Amino acid sequence: MLFTDIIEKKKTHQELNEEEIRYFIEGFCANEIPDYQVSALLMAILLNGMSEKETYLLTKYMTYSGNVVDLSSIHGVKVDKHSTGGVGDKTTIALMPMVASLGAKVAKMSGRALGFCGGTVDKLESIPGYRLDLNQDEVSEQVNRIGIALIGQSAELAPADKKIYALRDVTATVDSIPLIASSIMSKKLACGNDVIVLDVKYGNGAFMKDMESAEALAKEMIKIGENAGKKVSACLSSMKQPLGNAVGNALEVIEAIDTLKGKGPKDFTELCLISGSVILEKAGLYTREEAYRKLEENLHNGAALKKLREVIEAQGGDPRVVDDYSLLPTAKYVTELKAECDGYVADLPAQIIGELSMRLGAGRATKEESIDYAVGIVLNKKIGDAVSAGETLAYIHHDQPLTEDWLKQLREAFVLSREPVKAEAVVEKVI
Ligand code: URA
Repeated sequence: MLFTDIIEKKKTHQELNEEEIRYFIEGFCANEIPDYQVSALLMAILLNGMSEKETYLLTKYMTYSGNVVDLSSIHGVKVDKHSTGGVGDKTTIALMPMVASLGAKVAKMSGRALGFCGGTVDKLESIPGYRLDLNQDEVSEQVNRIGIALIGQSAELAPADKKIYALRDVTATVDSIPLIASSIMSKKLACGNDVIVLDVKYGNGAFMKDMESAEALAKEMIKIGENAGKKVSACLSSMKQPLGNAVGNALEVIEAIDTLKGKGPKDFTELCLISGSVILEKAGLYTREEAYRKLEENLHNGAALKKLREVIEAQGGDPRVVDDYSLLPTAKYVTELKAECDGYVADLPAQIIGELSMRLGAGRATKEESIDYAVGIVLNKKIGDAVSAGETLAYIHHDQPLTEDWLKQLREAFVLSREPVKAEAVVEKVI
């Protein structure tokens, strides 16, 4: 088979067959097809799209380019969630104990942060002693015993995606729905779960800038998952502003724990309740309404918090952090940003808050950089809130002195209006 024929076919809007897609993925992973030819094919895919069948086959061969986790020794329905990334997104740390407290089995792998979005692995690492590198036998034993394991992603998951993504990144071929969908779903399918609930974000702090493209991506991913025999749903949620109030690793762990105590921010709690009820419904454990009610109960009766305590303890972390936040990394200074005038918060761009938090040390621009777990920003006002001059807009947790420029940018991120502003719902739609 000639790779130029495959490029030619895609260039002329023809559908690639299974043999051609297999040849592409296997050949590229074996370094038998050069980057320049794969780049040309990726551009043809970006311009001409892929059919449902092609996208599914591409995902399948990417999934099987590495190990597919075998969760068959875990009893019960294994559930997973995936967020397309956002600022202040600590959902896994609250949501997975919530659904585990109602009988769903959770063997969740998470990734690290790069850029302005935090990664769950970095957040969990801020818990003293917490181990993320369990092997498969340890994961199965733990999930069968307590219902949940929250671990780091193994390097071997869908290696084809890693190679293709690196090329997309330097050839302006990232923003193609079939390529994004196959990239995300190949890693999800390699995790071996039965149920996958996707949280597809839209807004300035997200990959997808508007609801329509988020919905198109969600539908594509659902089709891939269903073709692979999985139960898949998606929530479309706003990333116009950060999720919840806390942005920064240990600060987000605290907010996730507060949420499990029934004291979390309204938007974040709502996202967890809606996603959790969709997960439990897809798992066939409850109707969506029953699940919502039971999850709410478990936030107030301590059952969901107990699951988090159990998973921290099982993985070598200090479970006392749940009751004593001073055991988590703490920044040297906390500075308040005060409002200079009255108004209503009209905008609070997630991307800017994420970047400012990264500049404090909470995130990394390159894989080699280390992270300061203690630092970050806790928002005291969000879109729609009324503000009086002198009130605190945000608490800045920092270890280094703040510069005038940094403070100016944070102040400018709070766009105030004289007129009342209506906050939008965090979850716009469930598909
Ligand atoms: N996240 C991924 O994992 N892949 C993409 O292509 C885009 C976002």
